[in-house]
Amino acid sequence: MSKKVIIIGSGFSSLSASCHLAKAGFDVSVYEKNNTVGGRARQLVKDGFTFDIGPSWYWMPDIFEKFFNDFEKKTTDFYQLDKLDPAYKIFFSDDTITIGDCMDKICTEFERIEPGSAVHLRKFILKAQENYRIAIDKVVLRPGLSPLELVTPETIAKVDQFFKTISSEVRRNFKNKKLISALEFPVLFLGAKPNNTPAFYSFMNFADFGLGTWHPKGGMYEIVKAMVSLAKTLGVKFHTNTPVKKIRVENGKAVGIIANKTAIDCDIVVSGADYHHSETLLDSKYRQYSEAYWSKKTFAPSSLLFYIGFDKKLKNIEHHNLFFDTDFEQHAKEIYDSPQWPTNPLFYANFPSVTDASMAPSGCETGFFLVPIAPGLEDTPTLRDTYFKLIMARFKARTGQEIENNIIFKESFCVNDFIEQYNSYKGNAYGMANTLMQTAFLRPKLKSKKVENLFFTGQLTVPGPGVPPALISGKLVASLINKNNS
Ligand SMILES: Cc1cc2nc3c(=O)[nH]c(=O)nc-3n(C[C@H](O)[C@H](O)[C@H](O)COP(=O)(O)OP(=O)(O)OC[C@H]3O[C@@H](n4cnc5c(N)ncnc54)[C@H](O)[C@@H]3O)c2cc1C
Repeated sequence: MSKKVIIIGSGFSSLSASCHLAKAGFDVSVYEKNNTVGGRARQLVKDGFTFDIGPSWYWMPDIFEKFFNDFEKKTTDFYQLDKLDPAYKIFFSDDTITIGDCMDKICTEFERIEPGSAVHLRKFILKAQENYRIAIDKVVLRPGLSPLELVTPETIAKVDQFFKTISSEVRRNFKNKKLISALEFPVLFLGAKPNNTPAFYSFMNFADFGLGTWHPKGGMYEIVKAMVSLAKTLGVKFHTNTPVKKIRVENGKAVGIIANKTAIDCDIVVSGADYHHSETLLDSKYRQYSEAYWSKKTFAPSSLLFYIGFDKKLKNIEHHNLFFDTDFEQHAKEIYDSPQWPTNPLFYANFPSVTDASMAPSGCETGFFLVPIAPGLEDTPTLRDTYFKLIMARFKARTGQEIENNIIFKESFCVNDFIEQYNSYKGNAYGMANTLMQTAFLRPKLKSKKVENLFFTGQLTVPGPGVPPALISGKLVASLINKNNS
């Protein structure tokens, strides 16, 4: 008889693990606390507007393709994928930079800002491409069990790049502050400051300029729907509105969960809920990491988010827009060094209806605004409102249009919601940052050291934050379980 696996949570990592485990012959059931699946990537549909609640950047299309290829499928079997051109626009206080869909266009834009910079950019991206290949083939697909996993001829040749930072590498090649910001932006997805992120992570620059920014028609939730549909065809069973209250352990082995006041038995438990929360579902003697351990870790930011329906089409915007019109250093300090509500934050604005008419009613615009903030900050309606006014004023000034009277509705989401809806540690949005000391084998482990048959997946373990890493994390944990059971 097939071994029974219970997966806690239905984020991308859990969905990925569920598909891989079901394909390998396990009897898989997913238990999700919320009323819909997808975790941080859930969707809000209101008055004809469609919002992706969390992720909106579709980067590294190869990783999504590989996921579906593992099941003899292609992304196009499930959703239509369009490459965005421009990929995104960056607003500074006195200018904008538009990032096109190919290196030639991006080089032309770099030359406009800093004559001579295109040559450096091409060299920088070639190196980043090599790092991408090594990262995908040799680093991220390792389960993080031992430092030796990372020792390969390719990684040894690049060892210096683990000890230099992306910040110093970018500054060595480019002088213009705007170009520096554009090149430091991609590593923000890893959750840490560029001056605390190894230069090796320039592979994110290749993901950005080399592979491009894509959009699944209908929004990022199409990926969730695709994975759920695949999982169901493989036999995975889904239980929503079912918070897991306890992971049951007997004789040092995970034997099931408690949900809906009922004990449910299984042979293996995988938790894709935030790692810190997952361990609180265990009696304290079975936890591997103390509160002190978590409190010392560098967490990726939380976010203040607004989902806004506009009753008109907006001008001077693209699908993805970065408002880098204030001091990035100051904002970064207020996230990482002395956590506090930012004085004058950078923010991101996403208008998927610019390229995808299905995301908003005709003549309207779907707007998603994100302000990165430190996790664990006080979160009140007054603070949310203060920052709403602040970013709307900046948005109005930079794009040159009135919007106050065109907002049909607005909803917000912040630290308290991350905690309440996802059991997120301190309300983090993107998990644990990928700093040098929190990379690969230095991250919380996929397999419990204290409880047999208990595993973890998701953005707090390997490889790290982001949708593509979550897909990989689910595959890694499934391979480990397979190995343990063969
Ligand atoms: C605002 C925002 C923007 C982002 N932007 C991007 C982007 O543009 N591109 C990108 O690649 N990545 C982005 N990310 C990161 C990406 O969304 C995440 O890294 C990824 O979705 C995490 O997946 P996961 O499976 O690790 O966890 P989650 O999605 O958090 O899934 C965990 C699940 O566990 C459930 N759960 C928790 N406790 C319990 C319990 N006791 N019982 C049952 N279920 C439980 C939760 O409800 C949740 O559904 C963004 C994230 C956020 C929040």
